[in-house]
Amino acid sequence: MNHSFRILFAFLLTAPLVCGFNCSLNLDYQALFKANPSYCSDGFDFPVGPPNAKNYYNAQPFGKNYHLGDDWNGTGGGNTDLGDPIYSIGNGYVSAIENHGAGWGNVIRIVHFIKDKNLLVESLYAHCNEMLIEPNTWVKRGQKIGTIGNAEGAYWAHLHLEIRTEVDMDLGGGYSEETDGYTDPTAFIKLNRPKKE
Ligand SMILES: [Zn+2]
Repeated sequence: MNHSFRILFAFLLTAPLVCGFNCSLNLDYQALFKANPSYCSDGFDFPVGPPNAKNYYNAQPFGKNYHLGDDWNGTGGGNTDLGDPIYSIGNGYVSAIENHGAGWGNVIRIVHFIKDKNLLVESLYAHCNEMLIEPNTWVKRGQKIGTIGNAEGAYWAHLHLEIRTEVDMDLGGGYSEETDGYTDPTAFIKLNRPKKE
């Protein structure tokens, strides 16, 4: 193989892999939702005490200390919320369920599709005590997906919730000055409530 031929060959081999992370996954999700329209978003609720986070408070809002999510805690304080249910904020597709060990613990990731805006977003639920759903399955808004945990004793029990405007990004660190691909979860939920029947 001559040199330029080899470069071309290398490009053809790697191009689909690079694209696979950045674009084709998104296309797949859109196709998936379009084939399963009853799981497209019909609005969003809070993930604890739904629909409005009754008996919970946000101890560390998005942006505070460069936090990339919200920290939901029971108003009882301490570990009184350990084992409390966590609910999916919206209809969607469970894209990942994984234990990431120290710091993150059990993490659930759900992709949502807002059809009229042609927009994919991802909700991420961290430090879960239990994860009660399977990956690559569909969920409905308000469905119990797990329970509040403390990442095996790393913290007082709470739910770290992120909402991402770019799906399938790396897990990240939970805190950053760089907020590209992240959005304020509480502001997002408040802007996208279900329509009243
Ligand atoms: Zn947090």
